[in-house]
Amino acid sequence: MQGLEQQVAVVTGGSRGIGRAVALRLAEAGADVAVVARTVEACAGTVEAIRAMNRRAWAVAADVSQAPSVEAAAETILREAGRVDILVNNAGITRDGLLMRMGEGDWDAVLDTNLKGAFLFTRALARTFLKQRSGRIINITSVIGLMGNAGQANYAASKAGLIGFTKACAREFASRGVTVNAVAPGFIETDMTAVLAPEQKQAILSRVPLGVFGKPEDVAHAVWFLALPESRYITGQVLVVDGGMVM
Ligand code: NAP
Repeated sequence: MQGLEQQVAVVTGGSRGIGRAVALRLAEAGADVAVVARTVEACAGTVEAIRAMNRRAWAVAADVSQAPSVEAAAETILREAGRVDILVNNAGITRDGLLMRMGEGDWDAVLDTNLKGAFLFTRALARTFLKQRSGRIINITSVIGLMGNAGQANYAASKAGLIGFTKACAREFASRGVTVNAVAPGFIETDMTAVLAPEQKQAILSRVPLGVFGKPEDVAHAVWFLALPESRYITGQVLVVDGGMVM
């Protein structure tokens, strides 16, 4: 028993990295999972791994920054799965650059994916959660949203915005038994961080008290915890998973 039997989870950005680890962890705990990414092909690996655990899994293509795409995906998921109990807004991108040189396109792409994407998916499934009078919404923010970072004004704004969004939704949905929380990872080894230069990685590592980078599974563990029925009295919180970097 891992606590999520008979439940249906939606994980955006479930094709790789943290989202993939979250999808697998929730499936391991008993949930059926709709895996969302921009193409069905990208979701295939995660879906296959979940089905190998004898859970139901669906590959759903959607661009989280586009309302019609998200609405269509939510409809498909509700039709196929019949219900949704857990939404993990994980899809995210970076377009780093110093502010003076940051193009409007880089600002918009990051805000539209990381912040508006969570708004759109939450809105698309809100009616379902409120009607059910239960649900778990978990937004993947970042320590950068708490402490800022030179060269990431767009990303920091999107992730800080996601924390405000989490708290507003937590208050709005609380009376219906729906909890809304955020998980803020530190430096996690994925495609997103693989592009950093060795000296950048070293500089980050020197600020991590536990002395190692995190793994996607470390974040997945925190998401699983918040998704559990027993976590019903936790809402509007930011759970930091960063090896002690921000404390
Ligand atoms: P990643 O390996 O680059 O994966 C990003 C995921 O997001 C992919 O599944 C990608 O799917 C999906 N995605 C991107 N744009 C999308 C869009 N418009 N519509 C739908 N899906 C989209 O990143 P990661 O490191 O796992 O990061 C996952 C989340 O954790 C992000 O929100 C990130 O900001 C956050 N985070 C990461 C770290 C870290 O150190 N890695 C730290 C703090 C927070 P496709 O490309 O297949 O569409």
